[in-house]
Amino acid sequence: MFDTLQDRLAATFKSLRGKGRITEADIDETAREIRRALLEADVNLAVVKDFVAAVKERARGAELHGALNPAQQIVKIVNDELVTILGGETRTIRYAKRPPTVIMLAGLQGAGKTTLAGKLAVWFKGQGHSPLLVAADLQRPNAVNQLQVVGQRAGVHVFAPEPGNASSNDDLDRPRGNPVEVAKNSITEAERRLYDVVIVDTAGRLGIDAELMQQAADIRDAVRPDEVLFVVDAMIGQDAVNTANAFAEGVGFDGVVLTKLDGDARGGAALSIARVTGKPIMFASNGEGQRDFDVFHPDRMASRILGMGDMLTLIEQAEKTFDAEQSAKAAAKLTGQGGEFGLSDFLQQMQMVRKMGPLSKIFGMLPGMGDMKDQLNNIDEKEVDRLEAIIHSMTPAERDSPKIIDGSRRARIAKGSGTQVSEVNNLVDRFFEARKMMTAMASGKMPGMPGLPGM
Ligand code: GDP
Repeated sequence: MFDTLQDRLAATFKSLRGKGRITEADIDETAREIRRALLEADVNLAVVKDFVAAVKERARGAELHGALNPAQQIVKIVNDELVTILGGETRTIRYAKRPPTVIMLAGLQGAGKTTLAGKLAVWFKGQGHSPLLVAADLQRPNAVNQLQVVGQRAGVHVFAPEPGNASSNDDLDRPRGNPVEVAKNSITEAERRLYDVVIVDTAGRLGIDAELMQQAADIRDAVRPDEVLFVVDAMIGQDAVNTANAFAEGVGFDGVVLTKLDGDARGGAALSIARVTGKPIMFASNGEGQRDFDVFHPDRMASRILGMGDMLTLIEQAEKTFDAEQSAKAAAKLTGQGGEFGLSDFLQQMQMVRKMGPLSKIFGMLPGMGDMKDQLNNIDEKEVDRLEAIIHSMTPAERDSPKIIDGSRRARIAKGSGTQVSEVNNLVDRFFEARKMMTAMASGKMPGMPGLPGM
């Protein structure tokens, strides 16, 4: 997702590079390019117009000062505006004052609601909560079973209609019972058994449908959710906006969950929906696994779109999965509170990262990788082995203070690791670039501005 947009924006910024002054004509040209790039990414026209107008206005009024050169300043403006259209601040779940907190999922069939129910369950468990999943999708044959499988995998209980609790117009394929009753009873069950979060999965249809909206609205009235989350497949492009509007009208919702961000669609939905609905994107799903899911951070998404990587997510994921102490040490070093962040730290981070999943996915989050996308797609694990070999061939002093690695040391290291000097150069350069970026991000400064790759 966002590949083409990333490439187009990078090309636009590249043409500003090296300019000591940005003229009115430069701003117009840049605005035109950005407009084209966004439209091509399938971003909603009204959103594009606002966006471009805001960027233009700010670019004109921009004072040239501080550490940023004019090109970087434009990137910063675009970054800020992206953060704004993506919803600004990160927004997470509002818990009920008195448990259980009730979360209701609404959206079209196939949007990923049931899958999301499992992901949310795992996420809530990770936050120390005790979630209950509720099967109120009695429309689709097998939906209850699917939720039960999801619940089992997530290790949480699923509240489903009793078999045999037949309603009069039962059809044999369908689970029995009335979804509104099931949803209502689930709250009593949660109170009785002390589940503090209730996640209600509701039925979807293939298209927007009055009966479906009514059912969702009835379930909403029965359970009075603390959060209604509208779940939408980011791959459906502009339709996402129409669907969102229909749900906003028919059911109403508090936040959006984007699913299938791992797909290769152009990403316009993701970029339009918060602005068009006025509701925040709260979570994003990027795969079929239960952990392919995270809180949505507008700022991180913006910097990812601008090819500035997403080191924070990376570090956080590493923390979640691996050695918290090690990560904390790395973060402290990056903010200047615990010695120098050296190549051993870099290697450790890389080794942790390796355990996190396919490298192409991970590297996509690293800064400065935008230009290397093609190589990334054929990156192989052996390459990381080579990087490890190079680092292992260094002395402890070299690893701790990579700036001492001069020409003759590089030759020795290359020989020792069976690699070329150019590979050692490459690694060292990449390390300094990454460290600069990670430091800026870890200290909460404008992500990556000073060392923005290629600028
Ligand atoms: P529901 O009808 O809204 O409950 O949708 P499901 O949860 O059944 O999901 C529909 C399909 O989308 C399933 O095949 C899921 O595995 C798949 N899916 C859900 N979320 C994601 C995601 O984030 N990425 C990808 N690639 N597939 C997903």
